[in-house]
Amino acid sequence: MSNVFILADFSGDKATKTTAELATAGARIGSVTAVVLAGAGKGAALAATVNQGPIANVVVLESDDFANFGVAASADALAALVKEKSPSAVLIASHAFGKEVAARVAVLTESGIITDAVDVAADGTATQLVFGGSTTVHSKVSHGTSIITVRPNSVEADFAASTPAIENGVANISEAAKKAKVSSSQPPVKGGRPELTEANIVVSGGRGTNGDFNAVEKFADELGAAVGASRAATDAGWYPHSHQVGQTGKTVSPQLYVACGISGAIQHRAGMQTSKTIVVVNKDPEAPLFDIADFGVIGDLFNVLPQATQGISAKKA
Ligand code: FAD
Repeated sequence: MSNVFILADFSGDKATKTTAELATAGARIGSVTAVVLAGAGKGAALAATVNQGPIANVVVLESDDFANFGVAASADALAALVKEKSPSAVLIASHAFGKEVAARVAVLTESGIITDAVDVAADGTATQLVFGGSTTVHSKVSHGTSIITVRPNSVEADFAASTPAIENGVANISEAAKKAKVSSSQPPVKGGRPELTEANIVVSGGRGTNGDFNAVEKFADELGAAVGASRAATDAGWYPHSHQVGQTGKTVSPQLYVACGISGAIQHRAGMQTSKTIVVVNKDPEAPLFDIADFGVIGDLFNVLPQATQGISAKKA
């Protein structure tokens, strides 16, 4: 059976559900080894949280260089391990950090890369949605190790508990990877809401909010959802750019996406149209986003959302 690496994905000191999704996709190809990149002395605690999904082994690479030299050091260490163990594929979460690591690993190992896959088959064929999601592409790496980044929330994860064998490896990081030092970094201030790209439910607001995200946030909190925004809303300074959904923002693929006061420009759709169920609240019945909606409410979001919030709250009581 071939060996497949996944780069374990963490939020703080815990493996994210994306790690289980990567493992589920990887297990279709072969036996899964999760690679944990940790600061010195922190590997065992991190590895202990890599316990969901079909993971046979965990390899822990410890070095403070990961924090000091950022993505270059992470990619270097992973690439060295790939060269040593020759897995048939490496699956990495398709967020900004994951994609940059993947690209560097592909260069360092002279391998092909596929980014933003929404599915991976047993023979390593990856599925991508391109041109704003209008076209499905199946492709396979033909040279070296298959380096594939997989969008969070795209693969239905097997969350069964696993007890992988944990092994400590050596983090081989070249001097070439230490040319740009991270001088300081500030972790994002975490609110009570889930991370946008990992959330099962996302409620987004657009220009229709007119800068008042109160109704959107209250509805999101009632559903335990993350809050997203269109670029019109982030460019206006109404919501942080880190919450922008779309071509130049984040790509989300939740079970439920609720778009409030968003017209449905192609650039916005590109970031959300793989959502499993799409609900649109817009006072203009001609808004293009209704074309891809599973459910639509024609109305003023300032009337619709408080009623919906109240309705859900009443159902919960
Ligand atoms: P609008 O298009 O102005 O739509 C507002 C909607 O709100 C309207 O449909 C209106 O009927 C409705 N509305 C108004 N009041 C209410 C109310 N009270 N209740 C209910 N409905 C109401 N956009 C993104 O979102 N993400 C991106 O990543 C992105 N990247 C881009 C990249 C490039 C290169 C370019 C050129 C553009 C990009 N855009 C992106 C911008 C995109 O083209 C649109 O301009 C933007 O998505 C529009 O945002 P909106 O739908 O909130 O605003």
